Amino acid sequence: MSEAAPYVGRFAPSPTGPLHFGSLLAATASYLQALSSGGQWLIRIEDIDPPREQPGAVTLIMDALDAYGFEWHGPVTFQSQRRQQHLDAIETLQQQGFAYRCGCSRRDLAEAPQGALGTIYPGTCRDGTVATRYAIRLRTNDEAVCFSDGLQGPQAQHLESESGDFIIHRRDGLIAYHLAVVVDDAADQITEVVRGIDLLDSTPRQIYLQRLLGLSTPDYLHIPVAANRAGQKLSKQTGAPAIDTAMPAPTLVAAFRALELPVSSDLDGARLPELWNWAVRHWQPARLHGRKRIIRLPDTLAEDQNGLS
Ligand code: GLU
Repeated sequence: MSEAAPYVGRFAPSPTGPLHFGSLLAATASYLQALSSGGQWLIRIEDIDPPREQPGAVTLIMDALDAYGFEWHGPVTFQSQRRQQHLDAIETLQQQGFAYRCGCSRRDLAEAPQGALGTIYPGTCRDGTVATRYAIRLRTNDEAVCFSDGLQGPQAQHLESESGDFIIHRRDGLIAYHLAVVVDDAADQITEVVRGIDLLDSTPRQIYLQRLLGLSTPDYLHIPVAANRAGQKLSKQTGAPAIDTAMPAPTLVAAFRALELPVSSDLDGARLPELWNWAVRHWQPARLHGRKRIIRLPDTLAEDQNGLS
């Protein structure tokens, strides 16, 4: 990114359920990073996968962000509203020979090699398919895609051997996340993406897409994710409860603590605007350098999640 570009950050929740402590950490870190950079912070609801969505989740997420005192710039955007731009990008990639139709079903790929990122596509349809139901895959190569993450340091991935050609348009007609997020981050002129480390491995695929589409690459900073005692990322699947919206301050302070802000008893009883003011002044993401997991959960949650503090 050019140094002159004004900072624009974002929080991009998928409406699969209410905000839990893990998503609060991603929201808080991206918000503090934007505010302390004097920039803007946008909200984008990533609603491109209706089967995974939970009715009412958008309202729950927005009400929770409001209750916690987040202030976002401009109207909330919805990924589903950019469908035409997503389709245009897919079309461009196909026309340029970077993407191709793939008729393979999950069953066809049952014997395919498995890598750390899942099934590595063996290239079956690279030279064409006669299938009438097909996904669109992006052709990869084995040049390393390298970037330096703001917290996790230098990263490199060989897409062809580590992830294989990946889907950008699903067989069921839905747009794949990697394609949508790249088009949307560019459309929103995002200069830095701050999100959970669970997406670190996805970033090289997104950077590769940006390069093919002639889009600039934002900076990336992947924060550790909150985990329960079993080491599982807090998520809907691992049963993470919704954050308390009736009494936000204690949970917000717990989020600050989890993000290694130097919380002290001076903050006891502080109201939300004071808490945010204080946090912006004390935010130092480098304190999370190289960490993968956050296990300092709020006491109530630690009990729910089987006792970690
Ligand atoms: N929508 C994704 C999620 O809720 C986040 C994607 C991103 O930040 O790039 O996990």
